[in-house]
Amino acid sequence: MSRFWSAVVHGLTPYVPGEQPKLDNLIKLNTNEHPYGPSPRALDAIRAATGDGLRLYPDPNADALKAVLARRHGLQPRQIFVGNGSDEVLAHAFMALLNHGRPLWFPDITYSFYPVYCGLYGIEQRAVPLTDDFSIRTEDYLPQGGERPGAIIFPNPNAPTGRLLSLAEVERIVAGNPDAVVLVDEAYIDFGGDSAITLVDKHPNLLVVHTFSKSRSLAGLRVGFAAGHADLIEGMERVKNSFNSYPLDRLALAGAVASVEDEDFFRESCRKVITTRDALVGRMRALGFEVLPSAANFVFARHPRRDGAELTAELRKRAIIVRHFKAPRIDQFMRITVGTDEQCTVLVDALKDIL
Ligand code: PMP
Repeated sequence: MSRFWSAVVHGLTPYVPGEQPKLDNLIKLNTNEHPYGPSPRALDAIRAATGDGLRLYPDPNADALKAVLARRHGLQPRQIFVGNGSDEVLAHAFMALLNHGRPLWFPDITYSFYPVYCGLYGIEQRAVPLTDDFSIRTEDYLPQGGERPGAIIFPNPNAPTGRLLSLAEVERIVAGNPDAVVLVDEAYIDFGGDSAITLVDKHPNLLVVHTFSKSRSLAGLRVGFAAGHADLIEGMERVKNSFNSYPLDRLALAGAVASVEDEDFFRESCRKVITTRDALVGRMRALGFEVLPSAANFVFARHPRRDGAELTAELRKRAIIVRHFKAPRIDQFMRITVGTDEQCTVLVDALKDIL
């Protein structure tokens, strides 16, 4: 530890991202990327954006992207905030909207970046336990007695469980906390849920965050966005303009706009993943796994007789990488990204071999 570090840096517990190994001969099912590539129209647009144009700064307001996103979701461009991946969008929301001197509530089993941001921004946290079947219980997020959340954040579907909360339940949480911002992180919503973006005009305290990394197969481009009331978005823009006034580079802007414009490709590539996921769930259950119902592009599964860490290591020996979390209640589980049909067949064969 350096004596030159600030007290803030000494106190941080940074996030450790999933391993990103070289792909040669590996089946990489550990960080929930999409198994098929992005829209060919997005790739063409990125290629077209290379060249002399890169001499110039990008549009600081990302107007073209905000316009297509607003149109697709029936909103105004001033209701959209864009950033380098949803992690960056979340960071802005934490700083601008979730830091009120009262605790931020989120599920005890959830995306592990949330406690990291709380540490960074000095936000008190309250971990709300999931139920025995790993669901979010709506009632637990409604004000009880004297205790009220300063703000609430949860992924829907939740990560790493994959379990979905219905839109009606999400709305109960939002409507039940009119004085707290409720941030719904919909990184995986396109694989089987109804987006709460349809509710943002009704609830000024709702912010919904999306990523292009999963359903749009553009994790390498780093694009995410938030949709909400113009007041919430303006708060986030103030933070952004205080330290990064160019939210996205020219290649990312070009690729993201073309991806949103290619709705048919988007729907079809999500459909393929959903079909493969449902088949994978069935095949793993047939092998004796308990698999949580998944509305995401991954499955969360444990075997009654085999240790999760051990299974993960055995798969690794067979060149298949899945994610294991050393955390209370979930250390017997593996989180497995839905790959191509062929990759899933190799995975299931490897599991049969191991069991
Ligand atoms: N939210 C959740 C729930 C996630 O699982 C992830 C991916 N690790 C993200 C946000 C961030 O994704 P990205 O920064 O690639 O948009």
